[in-house]
Amino acid sequence: MTSEKNQSVVPIFGSNASEEAVMLDKMRMDPINPSIAYRLIKDELINEGNARQNLATFCQTYMEPEVTAIMAETMEKNAIDKSEYPQTAAMEQKCVKMIADLWHAPNRDRVMGTSTVGSSEACMLGGMAMKFRWRDRAKKNGLDINAKRPNLVISSAYQVCWEKFCVYWDIEMREVPVDSEHLSINTDTVMDYVDEYTIGIVGILGITYTGKFDDIKKLDELVEEYNQTHNQDLVIHVDAASGGLFVPFIEPDLLWDFRLKNVVSINSSGHKYGLVYPGVGWVLWKDEEYLPKELVFEVSYLGSVMPTMAINFSRSASQIIGQYYNFYRFGFNGYKEIHERTKKVAMSLAKTVEETGLFKMFNTGENLPIVCFTLKEDANVEWSLYDLSDRLQMRGWQVPSYPFPKDMQDTIVQRFVCRADMGQNMANAFAKDFNAAIKELSQARILCHKEPVKTTVKPEH
Ligand SMILES: *Cc1c(COP(=O)(O)O)cnc(C)c1O
Repeated sequence: MTSEKNQSVVPIFGSNASEEAVMLDKMRMDPINPSIAYRLIKDELINEGNARQNLATFCQTYMEPEVTAIMAETMEKNAIDKSEYPQTAAMEQKCVKMIADLWHAPNRDRVMGTSTVGSSEACMLGGMAMKFRWRDRAKKNGLDINAKRPNLVISSAYQVCWEKFCVYWDIEMREVPVDSEHLSINTDTVMDYVDEYTIGIVGILGITYTGKFDDIKKLDELVEEYNQTHNQDLVIHVDAASGGLFVPFIEPDLLWDFRLKNVVSINSSGHKYGLVYPGVGWVLWKDEEYLPKELVFEVSYLGSVMPTMAINFSRSASQIIGQYYNFYRFGFNGYKEIHERTKKVAMSLAKTVEETGLFKMFNTGENLPIVCFTLKEDANVEWSLYDLSDRLQMRGWQVPSYPFPKDMQDTIVQRFVCRADMGQNMANAFAKDFNAAIKELSQARILCHKEPVKTTVKPEH
């Protein structure tokens, strides 16, 4: 126990407390001076990765001081407490409207939407809405809903949140396999997976593995054709976790959103290209018709009631306020300029990779600002992409290498996710380190296993 008499004059590293182990899994008996607590906990975190050098994550790693101030100052606001914090509740709804416009909702007044903790909660809500709606319609059509489990159709390059959704809700996941010709959903075969127990199809705008887009326009045509010939009203949910707040600014003519008839709900992560620190996401339904009433609950709001549909109850509103700040501060053109620059950075890094002549490219930053590649079969090198990741880690860069999803497990890829805070200068520094790492590996004497050690981990986020 500390015995310092006047704690404010004892230097932190001269204190007894600074010598005690902080990494205890038992609560200490006595309190400790806050400045010592601050320092020692910061120190305990000191050898974690540097977020700005993390090329694995889609999640925002930089925000301006003004917005971090607002977010820190609003941490106590509870997002669910709409009557205590009506302005905050209004900000959330204003964000929903702005996103509805970005996604071309035909009638913004009929859109339902909410902020969430991230796309995972948003996908859960989108999936539940599809399930409830399917059940209502199936009953009306006289289908025996207990005869078979309902199913969801999605490409095998799905993000793990969909697996969770299917497990939690006892849904059969029907995976359309990816192969070397179809790195996104195979539109030649997708409809073979559909039957009257299908709650919906998920299209992905920004496949986690490669950053490629599912062809959602084509998917919509196929679904439309199906609906014309079946009494079913099949729908599409778009998982636009990474693309939803990027594409509207960069490729406004790409048809993937509510302009397509059968796209009824969309989610996106505010903390990816919405440029907010983690955890905020969004899910919107094109029309209240697509959000079954059972999923809408009422909370009190200024003496009346307000509908809510989130799974979580209490959480800080500061992320919502951060999103609102970004929309207000950057405006449409600000987002466009930031994203265009990020795309340029990604394309310059793709060029660096291509120029080595060693890699086959899967993405050169042309969809999302993502660079994804594999070693050419005839690269004729003694090292693997995993070795290259390790080598880059020595300079602080976190660059993931991982196998493609099942059916393509033998293809190992490496991926760089470029984010807004990766400026061209930082990218140049990375490119230099990347080339140096290859040179070092090519000259190094590497002891290898006879067989490469395989991992089955999924890419991050
Ligand atoms: C990141 C991601 C998710 C999960 O989003 P969180 O916001 O991290 O919960 C879901 N789907 C796709 C396609 C993603 O890229």
